[in-house]
Amino acid sequence: MSGEADRPRKDLEERLKFFRDIGADFVFKPERGISKATTDGPGLDAIREQVLDCRKCRLAEGRTQAVPGEGDPAAELMFVGEGPGRDEDLQGRPFVGRAGQLLTKIIAAMGYDRSQVFIANIVKCRPPDNRVPQREEAELCTPYLAAQIAAIRPKVLVTLGKVATDFFVPHAFGGMTSIRGRFYEWNGIPVMPTFHPSYLIRNEGNREIKKMVWDDMKLVLARLGKA
Ligand code: SF4
Repeated sequence: MSGEADRPRKDLEERLKFFRDIGADFVFKPERGISKATTDGPGLDAIREQVLDCRKCRLAEGRTQAVPGEGDPAAELMFVGEGPGRDEDLQGRPFVGRAGQLLTKIIAAMGYDRSQVFIANIVKCRPPDNRVPQREEAELCTPYLAAQIAAIRPKVLVTLGKVATDFFVPHAFGGMTSIRGRFYEWNGIPVMPTFHPSYLIRNEGNREIKKMVWDDMKLVLARLGKA
């Protein structure tokens, strides 16, 4: 039998190993083919065009291309990170590097395909040397994110890391460990802060952090009526 023929089985084994690693004790299977009306699609397309042409802040100078975000225009679940890194800047897509691959696994462990959620960032252009976006850059860029959220109207937002969380939950003090694990609200949308996947990678051997992320995702799934 060829190696290619063994691939589905290998993928399944890898996925199950990941579930064990992050402390997942079940796999969700959201119903397929059920989504909200997609009358907001053109709105998202217009925002995308604006982002691709945008030169509002200095991050435009160092980018290869802007990274508007991607996913289902009627997604019930949306993830927001900090900003594009090197791989994202080169490909023009969010979360495609190592951290992105981990996020994709988390999304799969929740029972979704990446194309069924929407993934975006606080800033749409890569900060030099992957530094944290500055306040002025975030202030100039987040109207695009707010417009995307208004077009998509997700049922739950997940913020990945402190920078993304600060935009939605500016009154929350302390580190991610104390902020995560409960819902906040932004414009009527429940917001669940959790650790950024790159933090998980930097603390690869720490099962407690993986478990906290999975606990957060279980709360998200419960809010979505999947648990
Ligand atoms: S980071 Fe945002 S505001 Fe700055 S140039 Fe890129 S799209 Fe425009």
